[in-house]
Amino acid sequence: MTGSLVVVGTGPGKPELMTPATQEALAAATDLVGYGPYLDRVPALRADQCRHASDNRVELDRARHALALAASGRRVAVVSGGDPGVFAMAAAIFEAVESGDPEWHLLDIRVEPGVTAMLAAAAEAGAPLGGDFCALSLSDNLKSWATIERRLKAAAEADFVISLYNPASKARPHQLGEAFTLLRSIKAGETPVLFVRAAGSADSKVVVTTLADADASVADMRTLVIVGSSTTRRVGRWIYTPRGAKP
Ligand code: SAH
Repeated sequence: MTGSLVVVGTGPGKPELMTPATQEALAAATDLVGYGPYLDRVPALRADQCRHASDNRVELDRARHALALAASGRRVAVVSGGDPGVFAMAAAIFEAVESGDPEWHLLDIRVEPGVTAMLAAAAEAGAPLGGDFCALSLSDNLKSWATIERRLKAAAEADFVISLYNPASKARPHQLGEAFTLLRSIKAGETPVLFVRAAGSADSKVVVTTLADADASVADMRTLVIVGSSTTRRVGRWIYTPRGAKP
């Protein structure tokens, strides 16, 4: 097979946060496949490049389409935002390989790492991820709300800093509020909470508050929420988590 498929992430927003390896992969591709708004972040690189924009909810179909293009000999780049392996297309590609044409196992498939929203958001605020942390998606499109609650509870009890991806959408307006209620039953009210909107882009915005005061309506689809651990604290206008608890 002569085709290839590379899964890339455009980073959180600013072009400078797209890696050079990703830029090279995009420049080499004959076909770009992805959700429309992510494809819009990719500048026109060559006249002979085809763009296949799709809806955000049909990840597996998009993955199969990309694999079929690669199997037909095209050099395909599948485009996600942030990092392509974090709540994004890379896993959908492998899921499609697993359930698809056995020939797809022979394809040249590569994943390029990117700057995920959590890292860009943390950098906007200081160093909230300086100690142990975990990341959860609050979206219940692909898993049950009971699973999300169980994981949130375990993360809070283990005193991780918790990054929440997909904190809210028009279809799911109440979940972040429910998540805060659950976290308040385990963590101290003064725990720092950060809402970082459009991290790593020119119009980024950071709101720092506490778990007791956190207002879920501050978050939208472009917001990453970081809930501190018991040692996360303020210094000046920054928020950080010390690397260790030892004196
Ligand atoms: N693959 C992406 C995440 C996709 S899930 C990545 O690695 O970043 C989509 C969620 O990511 C959004 O609902 C939001 O919570 C978060 N997100 C993506 N870009 C963001 C940004 N620039 N600032 C803050 N949050 C962002």
